[in-house]
Amino acid sequence: MDTTHQDPTDLHAAPDADLDADLDADLDADVVVVGGGPAGSTVATLLAQRGRDVVLLEREQFPRYHVGESLISGIVPLIRELGLEAEMDARYPWKYGVTLVWGSEPEPWRTAFNDASPFDHSWHVDRASFDELLLDNARAHGVRVLERAKVTSVRTGPDGRVGGVEFEQDGRRREVRARWTVDASGHARVASRHLTDVDWHDDLRNIAIWRYVDDFRPLEDSGDILVEAVPEVGGWLWGIPVSANRLSVGYVTSAAAVAEATAAGRSAEDLFDAALAASRVARTMVEPGTPVPGQRTVRDFSLTARRFSGPGWVGVGDAVAFVDPLFSSGVWLGSSGSWLAARALDACLTDPDAAPAALGHFERVYRQFVGDMLAYVRYFSDPRRHREDYLEKAQAATRVFAENSQVGFVSLISGITALPDIVGFDPLGDRVGSTFAAAMSV
Ligand SMILES: Cc1cc2nc3c(=O)[nH]c(=O)nc-3n(C[C@H](O)[C@H](O)[C@H](O)COP(=O)(O)OP(=O)(O)OC[C@H]3O[C@@H](n4cnc5c(N)ncnc54)[C@H](O)[C@@H]3O)c2cc1C
Repeated sequence: MDTTHQDPTDLHAAPDADLDADLDADLDADVVVVGGGPAGSTVATLLAQRGRDVVLLEREQFPRYHVGESLISGIVPLIRELGLEAEMDARYPWKYGVTLVWGSEPEPWRTAFNDASPFDHSWHVDRASFDELLLDNARAHGVRVLERAKVTSVRTGPDGRVGGVEFEQDGRRREVRARWTVDASGHARVASRHLTDVDWHDDLRNIAIWRYVDDFRPLEDSGDILVEAVPEVGGWLWGIPVSANRLSVGYVTSAAAVAEATAAGRSAEDLFDAALAASRVARTMVEPGTPVPGQRTVRDFSLTARRFSGPGWVGVGDAVAFVDPLFSSGVWLGSSGSWLAARALDACLTDPDAAPAALGHFERVYRQFVGDMLAYVRYFSDPRRHREDYLEKAQAATRVFAENSQVGFVSLISGITALPDIVGFDPLGDRVGSTFAAAMSV
């Protein structure tokens, strides 16, 4: 339906053809979930915890590579709800905050999760392992998970209501008939691309280029990620210590700048090297290290679907909303949408007449989180402002006015301010999200 813009690059490789042989009957379920990333696994697990019969179809065989390795602390309550906090603490390095080289003042500055939250850390995760942990957890909660199961089409009835999906496994075509279908297929947007138009945010049509470096030099606050603007060349760099030994280092810049550079004969590698050379801190982390061979590139175009739900279907995660990774919010945002969706769908399954109210409420609250993050990313994207301006804007947006002017900022970028609306979400109540987006325009 969204014919006006080109689709972002699909983040994944083609599916493996090595398949289970013994399953060839069609399936029935309360809910079928398309995609086994964080958003899909989360909604599936939370529904199974409520006694719902859920089938999850994942195109790939896990573990599989994925970008998006730094989590924000607003995800902690969700990880607890999934019963995975101890496992996360044991597996992954702790992330305590963000060291920023951003704004008109040249010195690096720091923001720590514990400035504003009961949770002093989140985690840096290897996504292959993290996504597999979430998917295995869904299975352990009774979700019927089929990997190497590629959804090929959406089943719709004569009234237009979605009633499940068709998929391919082992060279065979099969289908799942379900009362509700959840699209959690990430940028592939397998179902939602047929069900809703999309707004692509033209000011956030970016390209990300990244590598890994071993034996890097850690930041002084070694549990932080680095976010560094490079105004001389445009765009910004990330540095994520995915393990004690390995740094993920990435460069995000506009698609227009990349197109211009490419036309002038410069490669993505040239652009990355120039950005690193222009940095003050990122290059000092990388220089003593050993580059891991290989470089990855993806288009990270921000988008918001016009609809997050409709008759028989719901969308969560990147399939319906993707905000530029400046604040590492993607996994939190998608999983928060899943938390809301699970409660809303549970209400719909209990009482089909409640669907318009429950899904309307789900969509209003979720859309508000997306809008809030988008509004602040847009404001922050200009790296020439004074640091206090960023902090004041965040205070105004969150309405958190504390003596420490960082509290509003860290509340916002860690997802903490949205937590009451997530944890306390009642799909048939009348509470409507926080009001960041409204405050951003003040
Ligand atoms: C450059 C970049 C950096 C980022 N950095 C961060 C970060 O530091 N922190 C953070 O939180 N987020 C980050 N993100 C965002 C994060 O990667 C996403 O928001 C997150 O992965 C979304 O989860 P999801 O479950 O919606 O989708 P995905 O994780 O993409 O999962 C979708 C799943 O659907 C499956 N699928 C696709 N098509 C089909 C089909 N036809 N049938 C069945 N299954 C299918 C896929 O195989 C995949 O496993 C970053 C994104 C980019 C582009």
